Amino acid sequence: MKKLTPQEEQIILHKGTEAPFSGKFYRHHQKGIYICRQCGAPLYRSENKFDSGCGWPSFDEEIKDAVKRTPDPDGLRTEISCAHCGGHLGHVFSGEGFTAKNTRHCVNSLSLDFVADQTVPSGTEPSCAQKTPALQTAVFAGGCFWGVEHLMAQQNGVKAIQCGYTGGHLANPTYEQVCSGKTGHYEAVRIVFDPKLVSYETLAKLFFEIHDPTQADGQGPDIGAQYRSVIFYTNDEQKQTAQKLIGILKSKGLNVKTKVLPLQDFWPAEEYHQHYYQRKGTQPYCHRRVKRFD
Ligand SMILES: [Zn+2]
Repeated sequence: MKKLTPQEEQIILHKGTEAPFSGKFYRHHQKGIYICRQCGAPLYRSENKFDSGCGWPSFDEEIKDAVKRTPDPDGLRTEISCAHCGGHLGHVFSGEGFTAKNTRHCVNSLSLDFVADQTVPSGTEPSCAQKTPALQTAVFAGGCFWGVEHLMAQQNGVKAIQCGYTGGHLANPTYEQVCSGKTGHYEAVRIVFDPKLVSYETLAKLFFEIHDPTQADGQGPDIGAQYRSVIFYTNDEQKQTAQKLIGILKSKGLNVKTKVLPLQDFWPAEEYHQHYYQRKGTQPYCHRRVKRFD
C-alpha cells in the first residue's frame, strides 16, 4: 500500500474531512477512473461524477462492490470506505434529487487518485478553469434556521436546501450543544442553486429582506450568538456581492450588523429541523419578507 502523507492520513485513517472547495478533484472533469489513494482499488467512474456544488467530488454510483457503507456512530450519516483496504472516503446521502439515481457519494479528494481514460486524447477535455460548475452553494445565517430555510426555499433556482451549523469549533455539533452558546456555531442554511436560474445576488438580496440585518444580539425573539446575521461566502465573487449589498443598505440608513465570513465546515442539523414549516404546514414566527432593495 502507498505511504500516506500526514494530510492523507488525517482523512483516510482518522476519518477527517478536507476543507470544502479545496480538493484537487472537486472541479475535475477528465474521463477516467477514480481509484483509492491508499491501495489503488478502482472506486468510481467519471461518468458517475456530477457537480453538486457542495465543495467535494460527488458521484451518484460506485463501481460494483468497491465501496463499503457503515452507519456513523451518531446515527445520522452513512460513512463510505474503500471495500478493499478500509480507507475512509466520505459519506453517502440519498433523497437529495441531484440526479436520477438520487444518491450522492460525497468523497474527499485526498482519498482518491485518478487514472485518465487512455482513449481520450489529452487536451480535448475542458480544463477546470474553463468549466463553471453547474450548481453553486450559498450559506446564510439569520436567526432560527427554520424560518430562513422556509422562505429561501421558495425562490426559483434553489435546487436543494438544508438547515445546519457552521462557524464554530466543534465537529458535528448537536442542536443542544449549539444552543449552549459554547461551540461558536451559527444556525445556518445551505442552499444549492442553479446560477442559470437565479443569481447569487438575488439570493443574497432575498436573505437581507427576510430577516432584520440591523439586529445585533440575535433575530426577532431569538436572542443569542447562534442567531446572529452572517453571510458565509464560498468564493471571492460572493464575498464582493455581499459587501456591495451591505454598502447599499448602509447608504439607505440601515445600521447593518451582518458579518461576511468564509465558509468552513457546515454540519447538517438533525432531521427534525429540516423543512420544519413545510412539514407542519405553518408559517414562520420569526421571519417575514420586508422589501429593502428597489
Ligand atoms: Zn483502498
